[in-house]
Amino acid sequence: MSASTTLYNKYRPLKFSDIVDQNHIKITLQNELVTNKLAHAYLFTGPRGVGKTTIARILAKAINCSQRPAEQFEPCNECSNCLEVNQNKFLDLVEIDAASQTKVEQTRENIIAAARVSASAGRTKIFIIDEVHMLSASSFNALLKTLEEPPAKVIFILATTEIHKVPETIISRCQRFDFHRIGVDDLEQWLAIVCQQEKVEYDQAVLKLIAKQAEGGARDALSLLGQVLSLSENKVSLDQASLILPRSDLSVISELVAYLCKQQAAPAIELLNKSIDEGIDLVQLVKEMIDYLRQGLLLKLNSNQDKLRYDLDKVYLKILREQVNKTELANILLMLDTLLEKFGQIKFSVIPQLPIELAFVIICQSHLSAAPLAISSPLTPEKVLPSKEEIKNDYLPSDQNITIHKTTTNTTATSIPKPMDQVIPTEEITKKKINISWQDLPGKWPEFLAELKKYNHSLSAIAQICHPIKLVDNELIVGFQYSFHQEAMSNIHNQNLIEVALKKIFNEDIIWRPIVDQEYEQREAWAAEINNSVSSDSSDSVDVAEAFS
Ligand SMILES: [Zn+2]
Repeated sequence: MSASTTLYNKYRPLKFSDIVDQNHIKITLQNELVTNKLAHAYLFTGPRGVGKTTIARILAKAINCSQRPAEQFEPCNECSNCLEVNQNKFLDLVEIDAASQTKVEQTRENIIAAARVSASAGRTKIFIIDEVHMLSASSFNALLKTLEEPPAKVIFILATTEIHKVPETIISRCQRFDFHRIGVDDLEQWLAIVCQQEKVEYDQAVLKLIAKQAEGGARDALSLLGQVLSLSENKVSLDQASLILPRSDLSVISELVAYLCKQQAAPAIELLNKSIDEGIDLVQLVKEMIDYLRQGLLLKLNSNQDKLRYDLDKVYLKILREQVNKTELANILLMLDTLLEKFGQIKFSVIPQLPIELAFVIICQSHLSAAPLAISSPLTPEKVLPSKEEIKNDYLPSDQNITIHKTTTNTTATSIPKPMDQVIPTEEITKKKINISWQDLPGKWPEFLAELKKYNHSLSAIAQICHPIKLVDNELIVGFQYSFHQEAMSNIHNQNLIEVALKKIFNEDIIWRPIVDQEYEQREAWAAEINNSVSSDSSDSVDVAEAFS
């Protein structure tokens, strides 16, 4: 028996409280045990190695434990029934691997006929059918009849990693529990406890590496730890672990990303090759780089929240935050997109690192839109919304028959805000005089949105939630609440489409200039007004992602 299986057997949970995570499932089952309201059939679904059969066995043991007080849920692990379950000798616990018994004859004989044979006095017969999705259609049909009219004192626990292959008729007969991957932090803590009990020294970085590598599976995590321990009985060092665990180095990854952010392909390629020469696993490195960038993407989208769980060390999380703050969303998307595409080409490449080198060059060569404009000084609401008098005097359109007034009954004067001097970008932009004024915009805005919709639904949808802020000669400054919208509306392709639509409706060359608007919410009235005048079309499914392409 190898060291890893020894460790796995040794630390396999024997009671509910030993199980890492899956609290939502434990609590429900424990409650059913205490109230004696057990189902006839359970369906456990989720990834491999997250505790499905382990919990099934503990449940079977708790049900049959002869010393369990009615108000408790944990099996005693001391009575003869408990001991027999732990030693795989309990005759009324039948474990079936459906993958090796797919035929209907086997199902009839080993499950259905066996279920009719009563359990020993005072016991409940438990069938654990693992990988149940492997059963044939006729096997499922045969099983269904038994699930519909279950024999007394029989409980079925079906487990599967592929719930979509289990017929709906079977699922609906079972109480279903969805197991999830175990969090890296939980796995890491659990591995530390195992190390302490094994009295081995450990490097926390190795445990984190194992926990990440196990991808949420407790069984894999323990197997990997066992393999690392088999190299040296009482120490878990990073050097040893790197012999077994695919190793990459976060410092290399963050340095590579830093080069790519600065569009420096040459030093990035140099560092990549140096790392490979030093023994870093290319596939693992790129995988972790994609993971690193993905976390950067999540940070970018939730910059004010800490709700998401980040698996990075604090040091690297800080570095990543800084990189993300200085990098546009479009740039992060480009890096992820390119690496994901080129990653798949590694195994077909004569020179394995060539696709990744190409990815670096593509990322650094790609034209990226200029840094977004920002409003330099926050505006107070008083400055943003002009008084009604001001609007009446200066800003109401002279043509009172424009669409916006025809279609809206409760038009208020504040719905057309005063253009603001404060938002003029400081840099000089080539402008030209046009025959369109700010006052002309609201009337034709719905037409513009409709025109844009012909080219791209999602662009039109995003344009609906922007607020035009100011028209400076032929440059139209529009505000968005979120930078990801602003960036989507700034990319060259989308900008061209928008400007074509503007040209068609206003018959002028208007420059589209999206900004992130710190005062967005104060301008809500404007958008509400416009949206009211756009006929809503509920049959359109708007795919916002389309605009980001
Ligand atoms: Zn017991």
